[in-house]
Amino acid sequence: MLNLKKTDPEIADLLEKEKQRQIQGLELIASENLVSKAVLEVMGSIFTNKYAEGYPGKRYYGGCEFYDVAEDLARERMKKLFGAEHANVQPHSGTQANMAIYFATMECGKDRMMSMSLSQGGHLSHGSPVSFSGKMYQVTQYGVDLETEMLDYGIVEELAKKVRPRLIVCGASAYPRRIDFKAFQEIADGVGAQCMADIAHIAGLCATGVHETSVGVVDFTTTTTHKTLRGPRGGAILCDKEYAQMVDKAVFPGMQGGPLMHTIAAKAVCLKEALQPSFTEYNRQIVKNAQKIADVLLDAGLRLVSGGTDNHLLLIDLSDRGITGLEAEIALGRAGITVNKNTIPRETRSPFVTSGLRIGTPAITTRGMKEAEMEQIGALIAQVLRDIHDEAVIRKVKDEVVALASRFPIYPELA
Ligand SMILES: *Cc1c(COP(=O)(O)O)cnc(C)c1O
Repeated sequence: MLNLKKTDPEIADLLEKEKQRQIQGLELIASENLVSKAVLEVMGSIFTNKYAEGYPGKRYYGGCEFYDVAEDLARERMKKLFGAEHANVQPHSGTQANMAIYFATMECGKDRMMSMSLSQGGHLSHGSPVSFSGKMYQVTQYGVDLETEMLDYGIVEELAKKVRPRLIVCGASAYPRRIDFKAFQEIADGVGAQCMADIAHIAGLCATGVHETSVGVVDFTTTTTHKTLRGPRGGAILCDKEYAQMVDKAVFPGMQGGPLMHTIAAKAVCLKEALQPSFTEYNRQIVKNAQKIADVLLDAGLRLVSGGTDNHLLLIDLSDRGITGLEAEIALGRAGITVNKNTIPRETRSPFVTSGLRIGTPAITTRGMKEAEMEQIGALIAQVLRDIHDEAVIRKVKDEVVALASRFPIYPELA
């Protein structure tokens, strides 16, 4: 980074500090991951220098011949990985991918959609009143059954019959259990709606059969590429051929201008990585690791939302502990364990405070950690949560975290 150090020492300094934070800490944020050096190289390449509005073979700018091949590689690999008929790899983010499907299927200011509420596991872009999606459409939201803390498809169906939405959205950011995509599509079919599955969090699990896939099951699948898919920050859409044209038009020119071609090339690279057998093993290990941490936390007397996990994340319910999600997040952060506060189904506090913590294993699994390390990490979390004001414990845990992290370097040659 010699040029950066010369041009902008302030940013260079921040980059160095962030590098140390990533190397020395444990990243347990469920939506995050660590990309390969190959992905990083393409992201930081001259592929960023060019406009390529349009699609391969139909660009609005000259000089796109190499971009066409790169985007085709990304699309073909995406289709192959998910067994999809059509892929659009241009959305700048997961939210943009969702926006494109809303634009393609609903009339702004008029049509109704149904989705999972943010406070019970859904995503902002699924119709939260503070998001464009909640301002532009009539939104009705479903939640989980408050007893089981899991989805109840009977309740979703009843609501759909009452609301008669144009689009039913499933998929979540903080739901530790399986999602029955087939059930959602059937509910949508029953009321003349279309169904969109947002698999942003579990895309890697769906691609490898660790979780049932939504592709070929629901009308539209949207995803991010930077969570369990372990690629650059971005979005993508999968659908059948019959919807290809309307989806592509909704993305460009409907919603975006020039695609981020350095990101699209990096998507191609991460998808090539995801097509290797080791990626299936990786996703299996993500779930095994989450289940191991869940077991350790349960043994330590903590309560988990829904009692456990089927996927890459778990939610700790702190409401019986007299501490908030915010306080727990800060204490763990000081011990080198990065997590995020999260609302729980029976939430009584504001989203800035919350009664829960969300914990995910994609990033630590990328570092090569397995069950033995999960035992240790679960125990460290439990120690901090036992008394978040015990400074001696926080210091001791931090030392253990640094020692553990140093045994699993993120980019060995960077250390
Ligand atoms: C992370 C996430 C997104 C949004 O991704 P961005 O790239 O941050 O816009 C969308 N939907 C769900 C369910 C997510 O978890």
